[in-house]
Amino acid sequence: MNLQELARDNVRALTPYQSARRIGGHGDVWLNANEFPRAEPYSLTQPLNRYPECQPPALLAAYAAYAGVRTEQLLVSRGADESIELLIRAFCEPGSDAVLYCPPTYGMYNVSAEAFGVARRTVLSGDDWQLNLTAIETALDETAPRIKVVYVCHPNNPTGSLLDHDDLRRLLRMAEGKALVVVDEAYIDFRPDMSTASWLSEFPHLVILRTLSKAFALAGLRCGFTIAHPEVIQLLLKVIAPYPIPMPVADIALQALSGDGLQSVRRNIAEVIDNRRWLQQALSQCSCVDRVFPSEGNWLLVRFSDAERAFRALGEQGIVVRDQRQQPGLDGCLRITIGTHEECERVMQALKF
Ligand SMILES: *Cc1c(COP(=O)(O)O)cnc(C)c1O
Repeated sequence: MNLQELARDNVRALTPYQSARRIGGHGDVWLNANEFPRAEPYSLTQPLNRYPECQPPALLAAYAAYAGVRTEQLLVSRGADESIELLIRAFCEPGSDAVLYCPPTYGMYNVSAEAFGVARRTVLSGDDWQLNLTAIETALDETAPRIKVVYVCHPNNPTGSLLDHDDLRRLLRMAEGKALVVVDEAYIDFRPDMSTASWLSEFPHLVILRTLSKAFALAGLRCGFTIAHPEVIQLLLKVIAPYPIPMPVADIALQALSGDGLQSVRRNIAEVIDNRRWLQQALSQCSCVDRVFPSEGNWLLVRFSDAERAFRALGEQGIVVRDQRQQPGLDGCLRITIGTHEECERVMQALKF
């Protein structure tokens, strides 16, 4: 029996998302997945014999307060990644609809669409990684396939850039009545002043993705949020699993969103920004570095004169970073997550070749 033959065509052809964990590596300094370098101490308190609530009310209330939105505008999911997929499942008809995204960017928009048999349209970012609105507008007018969801990433992984707010508003206006505009704010906690959350009353087709994986130092928890118009949230609730949030996840997420939790998140963010500034400065004086791109996230995108050699030199010192050379426009680029100060120093030591 040929099991491959049984599988759907698009799944047989699919290259799964090459996550940092899947790619793996050898070393003791893990700067390849934009994680926070230290664990926060959390403890579990809940009994586990009962099913959890689909959307734990206390957790919704705590995140709504943090984000400055109403609980009806909020969905909690298994990381922001699950939400990327729920949006496709709820809004895109396989075979006739499409999603649009702007490379170089996060890889899951592509992978999730492909897994569901939904077409992908890409519009490359322009100067300073800003949106090519003319090309996006043309694409939004096409009817076969019809674009239903536009994913933009703000700050953008891996370029580190924020999108111009006027451009984002223009994008929202041109997508009105045609498509959802999903602003992936996975790293917005590092630049909360640039969030689009306050625009929701103006744009019912705006959807915002958030996560506890990055600034909250909880990548292992798998907890993310979608902020959107209550009707969008209700549609997503139709396709989400009945018990997507395990009780220990809700429990720990609540601790992270408490007064004490948020205070340590703010301390951690300040530490990341300090270390980023130090590493940016040090790298820009390194003879092997062509360019360090300014970053608003917890990583730096670096163009090396010989990226192969830099990747190898780092690897030989047990430092695992993320290769970005396969992305359009990112020749010679590696993405280095901001670790502890000591880990940043080890990066610089390793690059003395
Ligand atoms: C890490 C990341 C995510 C996924 O977040 P999870 O909550 O861990 O699933 C989504 N978008 C971007 C841009 C990311 O970098």
